[in-house]
Amino acid sequence: MSYAIPPASIPAVPVADSTDSFPVRRIYCVGRNYAAHAREMGSDPDRDPPFFFCKPADAVVPVAQGSTVDVAYPPETANYHHEVELVVAIGKGGRYISIDSANDHVWGYAVGFDMTRRDLQFALRDKGRPWELGKAFDQSAPIGPIVPASRSGHPTAGKVWLTVNGKTKQEGDLADLIWSVPETIAHLSKYFELLPGDLIFTGTPEGVGPVVRGDLVSGGVEGFGELSIRIA
Ligand code: MN
Repeated sequence: MSYAIPPASIPAVPVADSTDSFPVRRIYCVGRNYAAHAREMGSDPDRDPPFFFCKPADAVVPVAQGSTVDVAYPPETANYHHEVELVVAIGKGGRYISIDSANDHVWGYAVGFDMTRRDLQFALRDKGRPWELGKAFDQSAPIGPIVPASRSGHPTAGKVWLTVNGKTKQEGDLADLIWSVPETIAHLSKYFELLPGDLIFTGTPEGVGPVVRGDLVSGGVEGFGELSIRIA
C-alpha cells in the first residue's frame, strides 16, 4: 500500500529526562474546571457535568526542558489568551473507565497552555456555534515534557501558576479542580474510547488574560516543571 501524498508526521511531546517522545493521538480539553475561572467567564461554578472540546493533535507545540519556543501570534484575533493547565497523558485505553481505576490509565503528566482566541470563542459561544476557531487553531497547545506517573505519582494538589514577563497572572491549586482527574477520565471515557496517546487538558484556574507579540509566557504545575513560550 502506498499513500497518494506523503503522510503527515506524528505529533509528539518530549518525555522528561528521556530521549523518548510521547506520540499524540487526540487532545481533549475540559472547559471551566475551576470555580473562580468559571465565574470570570460569566457562568455559575455549579457541579454540572464537565464539558469537553478538542484540539487537533498537531496543535501541540512541544517545548523541551529548559527551553523557550516561539509561538506565532495567531491570525484573525485581537484577544489572544493564555490558560495554564495540568495535562494528563493517557497510556492505557478504555471505555466506561471507573473513577477508582482511572489513574491506572494515566501514563504521565505535563504542563500545557490551552491558548485561546478569546474574542472568537466568545462570539461563537454567544451564537451557540462550535468553538474550533477560538480553541483548535494551529499552535494552540504548547506543552512541556511529560513526567511519567511511575515517577511522579498521581497529584491531587499542587500549585498551578502562570506569569507574563515575570508578572504573576494565574495562580491556582489542583486541589480546587471541580472535576478531579479520575472523575474527568471516567466521564470522558463514557463518550469516547480513550486510547494510548490521548492528552487531556484539565482546565485552567482564574486569571486568564491577553498576551501580545514579544511577551514571555511561563507557567508551571508543582512537581511537573515549567513551560515557557515567547509570542512571536
Ligand atoms: Mn482551558
